[in-house]
Amino acid sequence: MENVVIIGSGCAGWTAAIYTARANLNPLLITGQQPGGLLTTTSTVENFPGFRNGIEGTELMTEMQEQATRFGTRIQYLSKVDSVDLSGTPLKLTVEGKVIETKSIIVAVGAGHRHLGAPGEHELENKGVTYCATCDGALPIFRNKPLVVIGGGDSACEEASYLTRFASQVYLIHRRDSLRASKIMAERTLANPKITMVWNSVVEEVLDVSQNKVTGVRLKNTVTGKTSTLDCAGVFVAIGHTPNTQIFQGQLAMTDAGYITLVEGSRTNVTGVFAAGDCADSVYRQAITAAGMGCAAAIDAERYLASME
Ligand code: NAP
Repeated sequence: MENVVIIGSGCAGWTAAIYTARANLNPLLITGQQPGGLLTTTSTVENFPGFRNGIEGTELMTEMQEQATRFGTRIQYLSKVDSVDLSGTPLKLTVEGKVIETKSIIVAVGAGHRHLGAPGEHELENKGVTYCATCDGALPIFRNKPLVVIGGGDSACEEASYLTRFASQVYLIHRRDSLRASKIMAERTLANPKITMVWNSVVEEVLDVSQNKVTGVRLKNTVTGKTSTLDCAGVFVAIGHTPNTQIFQGQLAMTDAGYITLVEGSRTNVTGVFAAGDCADSVYRQAITAAGMGCAAAIDAERYLASME
């Protein structure tokens, strides 16, 4: 019987691991299939306090993992929780066919990339359509070619700016006429001569499935209704994220968008189950807020376990 199982290895998961390990709870952390979470798909993180010159996302996550390991966190690498049974005590998780019983769970499963749903997007994924510029931007198929980024938030601006290192030109396509991104990111983006803004536009189709590669996008202007084609070799979708909470559907209370509802502090509607990070936060979604939520969940779990004794 485990004391606490932490599901997820982003900022929230590792911070919960550090705190529960230091509280001698001997936590088990299940990484999921993308260890380190979404920060491993970003470049320099400039806003995590303590790193005045910024730190690479992967490096920050490695540091957190090492810190959690140092205090005795047990890690199940590259494992994914297939299902959960939160209907009674002990709580049960099935991980790769094996059932784990536990007194408490910290859900820190984060969020995944949102998809456009446009024709051609799915068919051309990894054939020019991608959701991570830092992972794929340097690929030869994108070098010195026009590239398209879709979105208007910090991710889209960051991706567009990163891609200017490789692309001949970057087109940032946004469905409105102003960016959602933070002021500093928006200003940098608009000032970059290699980024061309395409305002009030949505992608109606990613071309060209018949050629089995990206050759362009068909756009529709949301104001005039006119359609046009923009040639490009890559489409980088950066339109936000969807919480990875599908396995908890019907068991944990959540919003229509799939964010876990917190009842009090980090407590969910199920006794002994706590949630932290992007899977329970539709508002802030920052590395530092996820870390803070992971800390809170660890303290709440620790108090809950103490109250059971
Ligand atoms: P976001 O802030 O939710 O922005 C998503 C963008 O995609 C919005 O501009 C939205 O348009 C657009 N969008 C959503 N659905 C769309 C659709 N179906 N078709 C076309 N466009 C669509 O997401 P994010 O940029 O990933 O950022 C998430 C959080 O992480 C934010 O809090 C952000 O500040 C943070 N972040 C920080 C950094 C950094 O500081 N280095 C880097 C990346 C992200 P509308 O504007 O019209 O809604």
